[in-house]
Amino acid sequence: MKKRIYFDHAATTAINREVLEAMLPYYSQEFGNPSSIHSYGQQAKKAVDQARDKTAKVLNAGFDEIFFTGSGTEADNWAIHGVAMANKKKGNHIITSAIEHHAVLYTCQRLEKAGFRVTYLPVDRYGLVDPKQVESEIGPDTILVSIMLANNEIGTIQPIKEIGKITKEKGVYLHTDAVQGVGSIAIDVCDMNIDLLSLSAHKFYGPKGIGALYIRKGTKMTPLLYGGAQERNRRAGTENTPGIVGLATAIELARSNMEENNQRLIKMRDRLIDGVMTKIDNVVLNGHPELRLPGNANLSFEFIEGESMLLSLDLKGIAASSGSACTSGSLDPSHVLLAIGLSHEIAHGSLRLSLGIDNTEEEIDYFLDTLPEIVARLREMSPLFLQKKGGYSYV
Ligand SMILES: *Cc1c(COP(=O)(O)O)cnc(C)c1O
Repeated sequence: MKKRIYFDHAATTAINREVLEAMLPYYSQEFGNPSSIHSYGQQAKKAVDQARDKTAKVLNAGFDEIFFTGSGTEADNWAIHGVAMANKKKGNHIITSAIEHHAVLYTCQRLEKAGFRVTYLPVDRYGLVDPKQVESEIGPDTILVSIMLANNEIGTIQPIKEIGKITKEKGVYLHTDAVQGVGSIAIDVCDMNIDLLSLSAHKFYGPKGIGALYIRKGTKMTPLLYGGAQERNRRAGTENTPGIVGLATAIELARSNMEENNQRLIKMRDRLIDGVMTKIDNVVLNGHPELRLPGNANLSFEFIEGESMLLSLDLKGIAASSGSACTSGSLDPSHVLLAIGLSHEIAHGSLRLSLGIDNTEEEIDYFLDTLPEIVARLREMSPLFLQKKGGYSYV
């Protein structure tokens, strides 16, 4: 078969074999509804309880503080909407950042239409939020701060613990979208003073369509779905038992292999970044040089389009992602790349390579052998590049 290399782990990951095996019985012989009284129901209920316990322990949370959802997107929507609706008597102000995932940004925009006031904090050129700025924006009517743990495009890791100290002192809820952080960053919701935290299993070698929201005990929050007593009356609907078991197995595995995986990933990632920078001119690294996810490399190549690079790489069997993905059908470059100060032109020439546990050093070699030719060929077709080259010979 043709060589295929997957460098898009920030989009999704393949399910771990061990995780899949843990799930399988709950699709067949243990198919019961956790709400049923009989033994089928009891077995399923036991599996869901155990999974809740495991997930809670990894985050240093309580059993009663974990709520399973249908995705990371659902957890983000619920966290922000739920706190806003339940606390609107206290205030109508929400603070977030300009580089959040759309699951957070679009929920905030929706709330603005409903009369809430949202502050979108800027970030520095590395994509970092300044905790002092969070502090100075908190006013008497602020109810929630929502800042992601790590960014899905540029990999920057935010100072959540510092922000948590501030929100705790000010009596404001802190939500963090930790979808990219779980599996790479040690999370302790108590130590970090996090009140709500979103996660999603398919980002850490678990199944798709299952996520969780940690909600600190005592948080004023509206339910997400009505119609049943599941998830302690807050998210009705028959539980996705196999998915829940998969999530818990995956999060435990990810946590116990974290240090080892991170070391391997950082080594491969740094070799990839150094290799690209040495072999190709006019490239910039986006995101923070150190405070970044172990598997994330986001690079901008002047004079070319990210999409063209993606297509050429795909022909060579390499799956990557572009910072300029026109998800909404528009050609606007990524809001994250613009927020760190890139021009539209440079933002359009961005490539995100997100490495995972299945990647090898040989794959990095193959990529470093393949990319320079692609970039050179695309630049030869670029009017901007030719103009610049022409400019050079003119001097
Ligand atoms: C993937 C992702 C989400 C959405 O999670 P889904 O489970 O795919 O809905 C939210 N936030 C971040 C940072 C992500 O990377």
